[in-house]
Amino acid sequence: MIKEPVTNIPSVGDKTAEQLQLMNIEKVGDLLFHFPFRYDFHELKPLTEIAHDEVATIQGIVASQPHVQFYGRKKSRLTCTLTIGHVAVKAVFFNQNFLKDKLIPGEQVTLTGKWDERRLQITVHKYHPKGFEDQTIQPVYSTKGNITTNQLKKWISYSLKASLSEVEELLPEQYLKEYKIPGRQQAIREIHQPRSKVSLKHARRRWIYEELLLFQLKMQWIRKENKKRMEGLVKKYDEHQLNKFIQSLPFQLTNSQQRVLNEILTDLKSESRMSRLLQGDVGSGKTIIAAIALYATALSGQQGALMVPTEILAEQHAESLQSLLGDRLTIELLTGSIKGKKRREKLERLQNGEIDLLIGTHALIQNDTVFDQLGLIIIDEQHRFGVEQRKTLRDKGVTPDVLFMTATPIPRTLSITALGDMDVSTIDEMPSGRIPIETYWVKENMLERILNFMLKEIQNGHQAYVICPLIEESEQLDLSNAIEVYEQLQAWMPDSIKVGLMHGRLHPDEKEEVMRAYAENEIQVLVSTTVVEVGVNVPNATMMLIYGAERFGLAQLHQLRGRVGRGSNKSYCILMADPKTEQGRERMSVMTETTDGFELSEHDLKLRGPGDFFGKKQSGLPEFKVADLTEDYRALEVARKDAVRIIQDNLIEEPEYRVLKEMILSDPLIQERIFD
Ligand code: ADP
Ligand code: MG
Repeated sequence: MIKEPVTNIPSVGDKTAEQLQLMNIEKVGDLLFHFPFRYDFHELKPLTEIAHDEVATIQGIVASQPHVQFYGRKKSRLTCTLTIGHVAVKAVFFNQNFLKDKLIPGEQVTLTGKWDERRLQITVHKYHPKGFEDQTIQPVYSTKGNITTNQLKKWISYSLKASLSEVEELLPEQYLKEYKIPGRQQAIREIHQPRSKVSLKHARRRWIYEELLLFQLKMQWIRKENKKRMEGLVKKYDEHQLNKFIQSLPFQLTNSQQRVLNEILTDLKSESRMSRLLQGDVGSGKTIIAAIALYATALSGQQGALMVPTEILAEQHAESLQSLLGDRLTIELLTGSIKGKKRREKLERLQNGEIDLLIGTHALIQNDTVFDQLGLIIIDEQHRFGVEQRKTLRDKGVTPDVLFMTATPIPRTLSITALGDMDVSTIDEMPSGRIPIETYWVKENMLERILNFMLKEIQNGHQAYVICPLIEESEQLDLSNAIEVYEQLQAWMPDSIKVGLMHGRLHPDEKEEVMRAYAENEIQVLVSTTVVEVGVNVPNATMMLIYGAERFGLAQLHQLRGRVGRGSNKSYCILMADPKTEQGRERMSVMTETTDGFELSEHDLKLRGPGDFFGKKQSGLPEFKVADLTEDYRALEVARKDAVRIIQDNLIEEPEYRVLKEMILSDPLIQERIFD
């Protein structure tokens, strides 16, 4: 029965089948896997333990004939007296006069409702049919169309009788024993018709483990298959040269930097293809690591590419890499605004291998670029973890080592799920000598004081950013708002202080000019929309004022704040916000309490959930039915360990693992993510 269409169930016709399809229920067996999204618990309580206004379940003996009063056409009030022990309690039912016949004097009834302690009265929400024991657990299902929960329950119950016995176990016996979790059939039954809270809990534990294990197995499978397929380009470089470069830097690498650098260099030297994420908080020094890896690549005779999200960043990176490596390598910038003959020339030199290192925006790999021998591509400041970029590269037939860099630290739970098929290196230490940024949350009526403070900072030789809020998804509104703030500030500040304006609509040349002027302190206050969010480096800026801070996510606020505190002076970040929600207020206060990006990202995950964390659809995260990444961290770690062992030790090929293997291979995700 399990594979038969739902129309095999009596009372399910074609029309209903269509509606069930909206819920992805097509076969009788699919009903088994339509899990309740919550449960109503009803547990008997003695009157003495029920608080005033609490919703509770009581059991008593009907002591009077029920009485019905009608108001208007549809409304009614049914009352009846019960005795519970020695206490007489009045039960009131609104618009449930049909229950009249069920309330028979002398018989026992069980009712759930709101308790009024003063009147000794219960306003009944639910009448429980006979046979109620000490507790019931009612599953609540999500439905679509005009299907009711009760219909669903009936069909699920049919499906349990007709097809549960055909459900195959996936997990080898030893796992059930070790983790003390029920088998698949029992776990399905319990999730729909739990016998007790305890047995439901065990069933849920099984599903959490199963979901997480399956997901981790898929990730490990992809990883192993990709490793097999991908003979990366082994890089043989002159270690002495590389070390000389590292020693020439004006600072010593932190221990963290040294560790991640070793991880990356080991990958570069090895045969298998690198697919690694480098995460580190804003200002933790990722760029220099990128530069060293790119230099090693060039020393081995291969080319490197650095991709960043915006042209401004591309220009900044090009400049800083030029000053770091310019006398050792040929470095070029390629952005959308480089056109015509200049572009053709660069592309030609790239193809001939005359360019060692190419820097550009994400369009870099999408378009007409052809490398001579691309050995390493580094993708900076992006949250998409490159499923798409990797696909583009694969489609072009280029398979270099790939390093992703992000300053949005990914909570551990997410990094081992979403990034299960990638290696992760983490810089968890700041270069020494940094002074923590002080963050304040203020209301708009403080503006005057804030501006006076800003003026003082500027008179001390420093600079300030003023970030304008995102009004909506409308660039136009953002812009007019930024212009307004810009004009206000210009009017407020003394003439000797120059205010600049930066926004997304400026021509790249104009943006560059504004940034240059700001970097050289020709402009002291830079009013900007969020275009300064990533990467920009002006160490003399010591203050940031963010208007409408409640409109930004934590990760974004943290990124923005990272633009200050980059020099040797104390820096300040002022969040001007009037959040309307509890969550919004919590976000603001978290920002004032910590500057640790990892801590913030954990908060963000809790406040927004994993889907929102990455932005919808970008994460490659599966939807789990039971598991919750914010809660089930321990289970996730166990599942991950098991998955690694099952795949690495090739247990997956053993007969006991047959069903698991079939499940893994039947997922379309697998095909998508394995490189051909
Ligand atoms: P991010 O990780 O945000 O990209 P950057 O690479 O821009 O950080 O580094 C921020 C600043 O810290 C740069 O000016 C860089 O030169 C400096 N820096 C990097 N590593 C160190 C270090 N080990 N000691 C001191 N300063 C460092
Ligand atoms: Mg950076």
